[in-house]
Amino acid sequence: MEENEKTEQENMDVLLSTQKVVKEALGKLGYPDEIYELMKEPVRLLTVRIPVRMDDGSTKVFTGFRAQHNDAVGPTKGGVRFHPNVTEKEVKALSIWMSLKAGIVDLPYGGGKGGIICDPRDMSFRELEGLSRGYVRAISQIVGPTKDIPAPDVFTNSQIMAWMLDEYSRIREFDSPGFITGKPIVLGGSHGRESATAKGVTICMREAAKKKGIALEGAKVAIQGFGNAGSYLAKFLYDAGAHIVGISDAYGALYDPDGLDIDYLLDRRDSFGAVTNLFKNTLTNQELLEVECDILVPAAIENQITKENANNIKADIVVEAANGPTTMEATKILSNRGVLLVPDVLASAGGVTVSYFEWVQNNQGYYWTEEEVEEKLEQVMVHAFENIFRLAHGRKVDMRLAAYMIGVRKMAEASRFRGWI
Ligand code: GLU
Repeated sequence: MEENEKTEQENMDVLLSTQKVVKEALGKLGYPDEIYELMKEPVRLLTVRIPVRMDDGSTKVFTGFRAQHNDAVGPTKGGVRFHPNVTEKEVKALSIWMSLKAGIVDLPYGGGKGGIICDPRDMSFRELEGLSRGYVRAISQIVGPTKDIPAPDVFTNSQIMAWMLDEYSRIREFDSPGFITGKPIVLGGSHGRESATAKGVTICMREAAKKKGIALEGAKVAIQGFGNAGSYLAKFLYDAGAHIVGISDAYGALYDPDGLDIDYLLDRRDSFGAVTNLFKNTLTNQELLEVECDILVPAAIENQITKENANNIKADIVVEAANGPTTMEATKILSNRGVLLVPDVLASAGGVTVSYFEWVQNNQGYYWTEEEVEEKLEQVMVHAFENIFRLAHGRKVDMRLAAYMIGVRKMAEASRFRGWI
């Protein structure tokens, strides 16, 4: 293999690149190598095989994972994704990112993550219910409201959380709403949880725009991805007077330099976030990233901004609503070009923050209004943004490294106090 081909592959390897930044962050903070040895991989990883009776009478066996990165601070926490490209490595990296997010917004959690290799777009409701329940049966020993708390992620939603909760309650034989977050409101879900990731992204974007002297009203924004984060974000920004010049889904992208009609598109969007398949003259997802705009939001999947396209990005601000959309090389290119990059572990932390609020409400049995949730989320996100922005400037590092430094600190301290290191 050619040398640069090898580094390119390493760059796309989300686990390896996350480990590199974690190592750098711990080094900058002066921690010994033992801490890195502990943090470079999850402390626990369970692989499960889940048999599901399909609608045609056959049985299909699915593979799933649950990774628990570090439980020094508290129970682990993080979503479960249903996607054909799920891999063990990806789930491990995602669990590290959850630990970082929890550290950044100062939650009493470590990071966890789950994934099942499947394509929910080809499955019926009944099959998805069987898969969700089978997954919980398979991981029930290692999860629970004071152990590890799942939540939604790519292609999972409040209905899937409801089935998982019901299965868990049946196994444990008591009601346990704090086992999972992102539930329907009638089952103990929190107001504001469904739109929380997008709200957090919007707050970070507003703060970043202030730093760059850009007004959100009238700003040109392109959003890659029209799932939970992308669609709510498009709506919030559209209502705030921004021009959403581009959006995309798994099939392609729509672009209009004068701004798209977001209400119209949301009306036509299917439950998996697809809408561009209804239009001719679409761009590719890659072309969308390079359109003329002030702010670019990758809100889909990993490895979208790479060294191949980082120089062609026109935006002054990139806000990562997806997990891991920018490779480490691309991060360097963008920051050298003066693009303000708000990293995923900060920008997308609104989801887990309101999940924490949901869990607190479940533990108390006392429920908050939407206004209370939003006010608290606003405080948490603004504080986290400022902390990272200040550290990045003070230590002359990019926002990603600053975010990682803040993200690892609490976990490292907690591991030390417990006598692990
Ligand atoms: N899946 C979301 C994330 O990646 C939310 C996790 C949670 O709410 O626990 O941050």
